[in-house]
Amino acid sequence: MTRSLHPETLALHAGWRADPATGSVAPPIYQTTSFQFESTDHAASLFALQTLGNIYTRIGNPTLDILEQRLAALEGGAAALVVASGQAASALAVQNLARAGDNIVSSTDLYGGTWNLFANTLRDQGIEVRFVDPADPQAFARATDDRTRAYYAETLPNPKLTVFPIAEVAAIGRPLGIPLIVDNTAAPLLVRPFDHGAAVVVSSLTKYIGGHGTSIGGVIIDGGNFDWQAQAARQPQLNTPDASYHGAVWAEAAKPLGPIAYVLRARVILLRDLGPALSPFNAFQFLQGLETLPLRIERHCTNALAVATWLQSRPEVTRVIHPSVQTGEAKRRADKYLTHGFGGLVGFELGCGRAAGKAFIDALKLFYHVANIGDARSLAIHPASTTHSQLSSEDRAATGVSDGYVRLSVGIEHIDDIIADLAQALDAAA
Ligand code: PLP
Repeated sequence: MTRSLHPETLALHAGWRADPATGSVAPPIYQTTSFQFESTDHAASLFALQTLGNIYTRIGNPTLDILEQRLAALEGGAAALVVASGQAASALAVQNLARAGDNIVSSTDLYGGTWNLFANTLRDQGIEVRFVDPADPQAFARATDDRTRAYYAETLPNPKLTVFPIAEVAAIGRPLGIPLIVDNTAAPLLVRPFDHGAAVVVSSLTKYIGGHGTSIGGVIIDGGNFDWQAQAARQPQLNTPDASYHGAVWAEAAKPLGPIAYVLRARVILLRDLGPALSPFNAFQFLQGLETLPLRIERHCTNALAVATWLQSRPEVTRVIHPSVQTGEAKRRADKYLTHGFGGLVGFELGCGRAAGKAFIDALKLFYHVANIGDARSLAIHPASTTHSQLSSEDRAATGVSDGYVRLSVGIEHIDDIIADLAQALDAAA
């Protein structure tokens, strides 16, 4: 265990110190489905949560546990739950508080997959998602009613790349008993949402945390900083007896284990019943990725800033979308929250619209054309014809995707090579 609060040290050490049995420095991959009980009494106490320990890998596993401790330490949270994808993390994070008849209020500035989940799948499950424009934090208050269970947002949402007003919206929810869930996928280490009042952080591990583009995963982190009992009627899933777990009232039952009622329920109810477990092998991959995250993020930020600056000098680029070029309220938020760098994403618009955007993407040679962000390699996509193509044109406009919009996830290659590829593709698309 390390007492350091420095991310560079936590990324390498938190949650693990040489295997006591073998001395192995690298965390072992416990590729097992189940764990032998010491006795029937031991088994009973594990199932009753009197003892915390390993039962079955769908609910928990020692390799996953190391990753969970490391991610919780990096975000400054109390405990974490890793799951099979970022999508699973977002879905479970909401379902852990809201059930049929309830609602949440969400920022409109969302990843397209989360938008689909909220606008369609959760709605079909009876959970209404009320979308509001985060430009006005008070819009969250206006959309709230007695059945509102959570607020939801992304720290640095693409394509707009306008930082979400975390502290402002968290402060609206707290007195009402409404936690703010923040998807921090695009800004790991750059923003720590708990420092600004968020109660829950979710992330797709698939992106910067893995970095190598080999594995899909997600995490839900409990800030341990939210009083779920202060407005008990607001959070029935944590404050009323749970018939599926011996009548446990989670806000009470979790107390001996720490301020982890939220994430404990997500594990022992939702992960148990819905089953999106992360494989131990993928957890190992994420642990490898995490070790270099602080170094990579620095390089992503400097390269992306250089790309944004260079794009502004190109005549065919009508608009550059990057926190460094924002003005007004967006700039104020970038200055307030992005004190460690602007992240690795850059958007830009080509005046000639859809055809030019597609021609540019087709001409790229170094950048990969993929539906991903956060890889160590540079990536690009034309959202209007891919990730955002299912959205109605009205919804697409709300998310900030125009026909000529191109999204870059700037990698950690040499900046001269990155810019050379962009230059030849812009020339080819002209
Ligand atoms: N959240 C954000 C901001 C994302 O960009 C993504 C994926 O692109 C997700 C969540 C979903 O993550 P995953 O692809 O790991 O399911």
